[in-house]
Amino acid sequence: MVRLTVAARGDVGMLAAMPPSPSNRPPGAQPPLREHGDACPGALRLHAAADGALARVRVPAGELTERQAMALADAAERFGDGGLSLTSRGNVELRGLGDDCGGALAALLADAGLLPSVRHERVRNLIASPLAGIDGRAPADVRRWARELDELLCGQEWTARLSGRFLFVLDDGRGDVAGLGGDVTLVAEAAVDAADGEVAEVAEQGAPALLFLGGPDNSNNPGGPDSPNDGVGPALRIPAAHAPRAALAAARVFLDAVDASGSGAWRFRDLPGGAAPTVRAVGERLRADGIPAVYLPPGDVPARPERGAPAPAPGLVEGPDGHRALSVPAPLGRLTGAQWRLLARTATEGDGTLRLTPWRGVLVPGLSAPVAAARLRECADAGLVTDPDSPWHRLGACTGRPGCAKSLTDVRADASAVAAALGRATALPVQWSGCARRCGHPHGTWIDVLATDGGYDVTVVRPGAPPEPLAAGATVRQVADAVASGMPPAAPGTTP
Ligand code: SF4
Repeated sequence: MVRLTVAARGDVGMLAAMPPSPSNRPPGAQPPLREHGDACPGALRLHAAADGALARVRVPAGELTERQAMALADAAERFGDGGLSLTSRGNVELRGLGDDCGGALAALLADAGLLPSVRHERVRNLIASPLAGIDGRAPADVRRWARELDELLCGQEWTARLSGRFLFVLDDGRGDVAGLGGDVTLVAEAAVDAADGEVAEVAEQGAPALLFLGGPDNSNNPGGPDSPNDGVGPALRIPAAHAPRAALAAARVFLDAVDASGSGAWRFRDLPGGAAPTVRAVGERLRADGIPAVYLPPGDVPARPERGAPAPAPGLVEGPDGHRALSVPAPLGRLTGAQWRLLARTATEGDGTLRLTPWRGVLVPGLSAPVAAARLRECADAGLVTDPDSPWHRLGACTGRPGCAKSLTDVRADASAVAAALGRATALPVQWSGCARRCGHPHGTWIDVLATDGGYDVTVVRPGAPPEPLAAGATVRQVADAVASGMPPAAPGTTP
């Protein structure tokens, strides 16, 4: 862990160094899960990577103003290697930082409003449906939930005890992010049948939402993959208006359960017995706080709409008001400073914001049709992914060599070679990993390309199903063949 000497303004200046958070473990009967505290990187607690220090800047719900985006580009160019990496939680990583830049970096981020609470900077882990409010397809504006929940998180002392890994997921009902492994997942519902008294109490307060713990696909849930609701665990139905407060209450119950167990768990799935038993406790807490909450056993939880709705495709997204959003995935999740600044400048022609997606892309909303078309062409010229059939679409790779010392090889170079060989998009997301940790791997169904001492193992991963090997110990050429074997035939006239 890199030591920081922070000499910035305000409470940022109080930080001399940030050791790992203490373990969430009181002296108790339960053996600890881990001997060490949570060392998850942050903007103030840098990680010593092989290519220099790394800072992870939390961007709740992926939402940035143009000014904040420009500040991040400044930070990357002044202190780091000039590029910006997007994470699978819609955050930003700066790499190649000098060991002594901590104070100036913190001051720059604080000035841009990217560090609203020093003590909470690593717990602001919020994913929200990126297209909410853009394409007019779903009922709830979960972006508002995200802002309110972020304020609640930063406004409580006790929330600073959450680990840097604890994740809130806010789905606007389309099912795009509900399966991304949140610890607390809220899914907006359009309507509810108010037949009995408890449900009527919820319905009286407007649109409802479902609250899950451990994520709807939580492997600890008792529904399992063959249950009537397709593996969805128990849930609470609550009024959507109280969704942020309900999420906060769930986090409180989690910490209480951690304390009671003495387990030191960082995430719901680490709790002895998993998340499911805690759902009832959250319901009781909500009712005590005056928030109606109806417990739904697994068999009563409705199937999610459009289960696993896809990530926004590269190109333009049309809204009901005629405005367009630019949708641009970052090649292998990485943008140059120039590419990033192009997107930030484009935001000034829209509503002034950018949204980072958990699929390592950027949305720029609120553009007129002619401006959007012109900027899309500029993005293509700048090397960004603008075509749904681009081989860089759905292609991911971890840091690999030389940035990560754990990596067995330069997976990004090999992934790039395979993209060039394929020449078009794969049907499934493909993720290259330099070691078995598989940092930032996708959720749902995807192709795992894992470096081993004897070449690459290629496997199709499906939730609730055994892994399906496609190749073992493969060369880069053989990986391309294995991935291509799972692709639909090329359209006539296209060159693979
Ligand atoms: S998956 Fe392994 S090699 Fe890749 S970034 Fe993570 S730790 Fe490093």
